[in-house]
Amino acid sequence: MNYTTLGMDVKKKIALIAHDSKKDDLLAWARFNRESLSQHDLYATGTTGWLLQEEIGFEVTRLQSGPLGGDLQIGALISQDKIDFLVFFWDPLQAQPHDPDVRALLRLAVLWNIPAATNRATADFMFSSPLMQQTYARVVPDYGTYQREREARMEQDIREDGRTTPG
Ligand code: PGA
Repeated sequence: MNYTTLGMDVKKKIALIAHDSKKDDLLAWARFNRESLSQHDLYATGTTGWLLQEEIGFEVTRLQSGPLGGDLQIGALISQDKIDFLVFFWDPLQAQPHDPDVRALLRLAVLWNIPAATNRATADFMFSSPLMQQTYARVVPDYGTYQREREARMEQDIREDGRTTPG
């Protein structure tokens, strides 16, 4: 896999998600960080976003509720460079109906190298970083090269023996 870099602006595109048992935690954290959060574009899964709007008055782009696909929507936005920062307070003590989506989202956050806080202490450390007020060059997969290499491999396989499965 080849890598390239993507610029992250000072104004960051931040996704916020909290499982039900962690919603109070996220709201308390958001209240404490209201000033910093107001300087960024906020996105959230349905219910988390509603709470952030109603209780704290943030302007939030709301996606589907997590169990209905909201986590996957955020994952897709990460892969399109439309989200570059994740605060996700997930519940380590309770199985969720959408656990596979949670896993997929966390995988994409790692793959696309975005800062991802999965508990309050990490979010505190991340938000107090000087990088919050700076641009940042994120190292990300070079999709163009990746795709061209796959196509070249397929083409070679087809030429050699008509196979379309790589390997
Ligand atoms: P919610 O989804 O914000 O709609 O509650 C969060 C989640 O469970 O992933």
